Amino acid sequence: MAHGHSTDEYLETIYFLAFPIGEYKPTGGGNPTLSSRVAEMLGVSRASAGEMLKRLEADGLVERGEHKEAILTPSGRLRAEHVVRKHRIIECWLTGFLGYTAGEAHIHADDLGDSFTDDMIERMNEKLGRPERCPHGWPVETEFEQAENHELAPLTELAPGERASIVRLAEHDGDLLHWFYDNGLAPGVELELRAVSPGRREFTVTRGGTEQVVGAKAAAGLYVRRAA
Ligand SMILES: [Zn+2]
Repeated sequence: MAHGHSTDEYLETIYFLAFPIGEYKPTGGGNPTLSSRVAEMLGVSRASAGEMLKRLEADGLVERGEHKEAILTPSGRLRAEHVVRKHRIIECWLTGFLGYTAGEAHIHADDLGDSFTDDMIERMNEKLGRPERCPHGWPVETEFEQAENHELAPLTELAPGERASIVRLAEHDGDLLHWFYDNGLAPGVELELRAVSPGRREFTVTRGGTEQVVGAKAAAGLYVRRAA
């Protein structure tokens, strides 16, 4: 990514890691620290992520936990929730009002985050009819989101033969987000996990009679609700 990431984008990323659905597994393996996970998600070096975490700590938004891990302070959590809610409302406006695709909306919303006042966001939300979810399935209201997390799992946690419907798509990786839509994997789509390759690198699913192979990284970013 060409531009630097803002405080809000870091908070958004830490928020995502702080309230995981299943367990977000970075590609590096091992037992990574928060700064390396944040760095991986934002595509920046570990050093710059570490610097930013220090700044967030100095601003009282992040603190060191029992095991020296970085966690959101109560004010950091409030601000992060505010940021993600705003982000999701802007995404709804971009897709519902300006005609952008869901794949395009995430990155534009990141760029626009600082452009609107809180009052503008609330007016936008009203005009849109208080949408329940962003185009990628994430609830606009973070309280609802956190309650729903317990009902969802990444596709990687399903056993072969299990059926599920897609509820949310990981949206921090723009290429991956486009891949989901290019391959018809969107919120509301029902699928069945058919097979998992040795080494858990590939997940074969069927949807509407079509068989499709989903790589491990994509499968970890497809959050589904198991069929009753
Ligand atoms: Zn979204």
